[in-house]
Amino acid sequence: MKTLKLRIKDKHAGQLNILAGAVNFVWNYVNELSFKHLQRTGHFFSAYDLAAYIKGAGEYLNLHSQTLQAITETHAKSRKQFKKDKLNWRTNNPKAKRRNLGWIPFKKTAIKHLATRQSGKKSLKTTLQLSLAKGQKLIIDLWDSYNLALYSINTCELVQDSRGNWYACITVKEFPKTVCGTGQVGIDLGCKESAVTSDGDVLTTKLTHKYAEKLAIAQRAKHKKRVRAIHAKIKNTRQDLIHKFTNTLVKANNLIVVGKIKSKSFTSTNLAKSVYDAGWFEIKRQLDYKCKNAGCHYIEVNEAYTTQTCSCCGSRQDSPKGRADLGVRVWFCSSCQTVHQRDVNGAKNILAVGLDRL
Ligand SMILES: [Zn+2]
Repeated sequence: MKTLKLRIKDKHAGQLNILAGAVNFVWNYVNELSFKHLQRTGHFFSAYDLAAYIKGAGEYLNLHSQTLQAITETHAKSRKQFKKDKLNWRTNNPKAKRRNLGWIPFKKTAIKHLATRQSGKKSLKTTLQLSLAKGQKLIIDLWDSYNLALYSINTCELVQDSRGNWYACITVKEFPKTVCGTGQVGIDLGCKESAVTSDGDVLTTKLTHKYAEKLAIAQRAKHKKRVRAIHAKIKNTRQDLIHKFTNTLVKANNLIVVGKIKSKSFTSTNLAKSVYDAGWFEIKRQLDYKCKNAGCHYIEVNEAYTTQTCSCCGSRQDSPKGRADLGVRVWFCSSCQTVHQRDVNGAKNILAVGLDRL
């Protein structure tokens, strides 16, 4: 198990402060009750005994039954840890002399990961659903620097720092470590095929075209919900294809070299839509973190001339050149008598540049 700490968006602070007050209320009640019980009988209440006394209180305080349980468990644990008959009174009143920072615990059954999505160029945003009393839900947005979608969540505690900012401390199972393979591969990112490897494997993620007709029909009918659903379908399918492709690559290799393309140079042309459709950015993002996780080398190299050079003899005599020759898929090198698939040849050259760099 490890704990990830993620910042919660400020818009939730008001709601969380109220819930933190409710948690303190339960804590103080439990604290008093177990102290009185100790005075009367000479025995401590266990967390289990306490549960019977606060059962049903959650409804009035809008706290999930598992949250109540977590409070009694933490109370019993810290009472033992600090060897005290009674613990401190908790308050989040800002005017109080000894103010406690907010704390709201949730257990596994009350936590649901709703979504993780791109927000801006590099950061991710995650939405969590936490259960309160009587089927009510607390939906919170987090700045996600770990990609929670990859983990299985165990518990979640919402905590406040001294500046009043809220964080989610999420305990997760360790991400299962994949082991990288022993091969070496170069990848040429292209427009026709999204990616071609030096081994000749091809990734095609062009889906916009496939769904174009359905999308047009929905748009003409002004069926907004349907349009959104089709866009989501395209995005999810593309994401899934890229995940499968990058997983296979990382499992088979310990060196992955990708041509560094300036996506910006394409955005002003008609190719922009194509580039987005091909998911270059996503391919690189996934390779980067998956290689880090598996201990595989990942390099991006300048891809200048990689399509124009013969990967066998280095001649540039007969190769396709420039944008005018983009349509040329197969060519013949007269210097060494080799027939080349343009993209595979490019990927082989990219791998060679990467090996050179090492
Ligand atoms: Zn040649």
